[in-house]
Amino acid sequence: MKVAIIPGDGIGKEVLPAALSVLDVFGLDIEKVPLEIGFGKWEKTGSAITDDDIALIRQCDCVLFGAITTVPDPNYKSVLVRMRKELDLYANIRPFTPLEKVKLPCAKKFDFVIVRENTEGMYSGVEELHEDVAYSTRIITRKGSTRIAEKACKIAKMRKKQLTIVHKANVLKSDSFFRDVCTGVAKKNDIRYNEMFVDAMAYDMILHPEKYDVIVTTNLFGDILSDEAAAMAGGLGLCPSANIGDKYALFEPIHGSAPDIAGKGIANPIAAILSVKMMLEWAGFNAEAKTIGQAVNNVLDNAIITPDLGGSYSTFDVSNAITKLIR
Ligand code: NAD
Repeated sequence: MKVAIIPGDGIGKEVLPAALSVLDVFGLDIEKVPLEIGFGKWEKTGSAITDDDIALIRQCDCVLFGAITTVPDPNYKSVLVRMRKELDLYANIRPFTPLEKVKLPCAKKFDFVIVRENTEGMYSGVEELHEDVAYSTRIITRKGSTRIAEKACKIAKMRKKQLTIVHKANVLKSDSFFRDVCTGVAKKNDIRYNEMFVDAMAYDMILHPEKYDVIVTTNLFGDILSDEAAAMAGGLGLCPSANIGDKYALFEPIHGSAPDIAGKGIANPIAAILSVKMMLEWAGFNAEAKTIGQAVNNVLDNAIITPDLGGSYSTFDVSNAITKLIR
């Protein structure tokens, strides 16, 4: 397998090497293709990602990604949005299964997956910035809605077969379209489904998270709800994600480049390590993936944790403890 390695910016440069040290323990036949992409590259060269970078990524089976700084400069285009679109990584899959031993702000047990449409919606990239007005066009297509609903139903079939379709169809026509396509796909797949308005969902997810199994939604709503879910699951430093298309895949922690802690060596590497676990599951290395999950739980059990979880260990203390356990 050939994997493009993109640490990116900020703590991406710390958590990705830590995660790679865990991957390396297995000695799998994986060719790594390192790539410099992100804000740092933009500062040096005026381009955060080039056509050549995309061409190199296309030669790989998947991408392991750290995090990227996106600056609010109209000339700076989001690298991740471009990669998700160009590689057609249409499904952003974010599992929220709290790890044992992590102190949670929420007393209720929960285990759900957010399946977020990843290539259109508010992040379609169709935008105009004028002197006195700005437009961002929210695009929802039948193709995009159908394939994300199919993906969510496929995941639901492997779980409790319960789908929640999240939208704002009471206000947005594009969302009544999304809702109708999703309900049609759920019926066709014989999956139980319910619907929630996104604002009510943000509220109910905190009060009754145990009710949810698979949540399917549009790009921006999924982005926001998954940060809320990360807070419920113990923090951004613990939550991995997979961006899946029919041909390529990209695995990344859901957090950003965290400039407030970058360079201090204290970023929690578990989200990046669990992203490696998701990559191994995707590639069929299930035993290795399971081993990573067990080692992560074990390290948490022994309170080898970074400051975000109340500990005083460094990024590499945590990844070293995990590699030691796996060995
Ligand atoms: P962020 O996720 O970088 O940080 C939010 C908070 O969580 C910060 O207090 C940070 O210290 C903490 N945090 C995040 N990851 C952590 C970890 N592994 N261990 C310990 N603490 C962690 O979000 P932000 O501050 O809103 O954004 C910073 C930059 O990252 C921005 O430029 C933003 O555009 C970018 N961003 C990138 C991605 C990505 O690359 N996928 C995602 C979100 C934000």
